[in-house]
Amino acid sequence: MLFRSISFGLFGYLLGLNAEKIEVLVLHDKLTGLYNRHYLIEHMEQLLALHKRYKKRSSLIMIDLDHFKRVNDLYGHIIGDQALKAVAECVRQHCRASDVLARHGGEEFIIICSDSNIQESRQLAEPIRESVEQLRSETLGFPGPQTVSIGAYELSSDEELSVDQLFSRVDKALYRAKEEGRNKVVISTQEQVEK
Ligand code: GH3
Ligand code: MG
Ligand code: MG
Repeated sequence: MLFRSISFGLFGYLLGLNAEKIEVLVLHDKLTGLYNRHYLIEHMEQLLALHKRYKKRSSLIMIDLDHFKRVNDLYGHIIGDQALKAVAECVRQHCRASDVLARHGGEEFIIICSDSNIQESRQLAEPIRESVEQLRSETLGFPGPQTVSIGAYELSSDEELSVDQLFSRVDKALYRAKEEGRNKVVISTQEQVEK
């Protein structure tokens, strides 16, 4: 952390920008303003280190826009970008101060809910799904509706996973939401995976 602040400070000095501005540029996604993948991975590594030490449970939510390729194909990339920004903002409005929301890449977002069990994650994910579906054409830039599929996974207190393993667990839940018809939330826990 200290090294990062010093690096940003030095780098910023060289470029004539302040450290805060550099930090925003390096850790945030340009299109949506959310945290980027780089920050996400760094934060997940920290979360897993704390998890190992304090044995608290946390949850991860993965959100993917449904049939988004079609939006680009039908309305073009600029409208696609507008819709992506609208969905990102909608998700952001639902997140609590303790949640970390990042653009995982492409049309996928991740929310890290520290200290939350899977039911709390479902209570966050379900309203997100409903609100996105209700976004109107003025916001989306095309008639809509745009829907999202959501997967959530609870990292239980005795579970030791790597960042990749945790991604893979939540990705499986998301995949099931897609398989079960999209516009859906699927939650999963260690118990279900090991059954
Ligand atoms: P699924 O419901 O299975 O997720 O279908 P999909 O079409 O959303 O999934 P697919 O992976 O086939 O396509 C993702 C699309 O997201 C293709 C890509 O052009 C679009 N996309 C990813 N990032 C951006 C972006 O930054 N801007 C725009 N406009 N489109 C993007
Ligand atoms: Mg995707
Ligand atoms: Mg998609």
